[in-house]
Amino acid sequence: MIIAGNWKMHKLTGEAGELATQLKGRVSDLTPAVSVILCPPFTALAKVASILAGSSIGLGAQNVYWENEGAFTGEVSPIMLKDAGCTYVIIGHSERRQYFGETDATVNRKVHAALKARLVPIICVGETEEQRDRGETKDVIVTQVNGGLESVSADQLSNVIMAYEPVWAIGTGKNATPEQAQEVHALIRGLVGDRIKDSFAVSEFPILYGGSMKPANALDLLIQPDINGGLIGGASLKADSFEGIIRAGAAAIEK
Ligand code: PEP
Repeated sequence: MIIAGNWKMHKLTGEAGELATQLKGRVSDLTPAVSVILCPPFTALAKVASILAGSSIGLGAQNVYWENEGAFTGEVSPIMLKDAGCTYVIIGHSERRQYFGETDATVNRKVHAALKARLVPIICVGETEEQRDRGETKDVIVTQVNGGLESVSADQLSNVIMAYEPVWAIGTGKNATPEQAQEVHALIRGLVGDRIKDSFAVSEFPILYGGSMKPANALDLLIQPDINGGLIGGASLKADSFEGIIRAGAAAIEK
């Protein structure tokens, strides 16, 4: 069970440190049974890393470039993220695809660069509302998963996390129903299974749901057989709501 918080472009350094400190104190009884990951903005990574040191909460970034260094103004490299204390990096979030022109090809380059630097990519896929209405959800997911994972080996997949984030559910307050999410998660597991073969590894492969998850709807989503955790935006910005989702994750393990 993995519960990851995507803080997006929120929190100044002091605020980020405060939230990390609160969470560290509140969820220590639940980790590492629940793997908690915090993904603050780049500017707060070092601060949050220093607070999380020695705890079992992991640190992730929200984006990465595929080169390790060079004349790429404004970009941040995989080895820089490692250096800042990251273990994880979100790649291909729908906001990056929508506003910053990311494609399955750039996502794939980033995935390979992250793996090479021993960062665990959290690869996001998901359809828009129009695509769902047109009945294209399956095709979109197949294309995004296969595009993002191109040339990723079965061995490397043991260090990959996928996140299904329907675009229409992100930040809208309208989550996918557990049945809708489960259907797509099962599809993703099947696609990963085509690459891994080893059935235990396939069943253990982590697929997170993201899109308006909150304490009130988390348990119903997290108990679905192919949902292995959550990627949380808005509700990860406050200790109360994020803790509530982590507790739902712990409860889901018991079910
Ligand atoms: C996200 O951006 O990854 C996300 C799931 O956002 P929210 O929880 O706010 O819908």
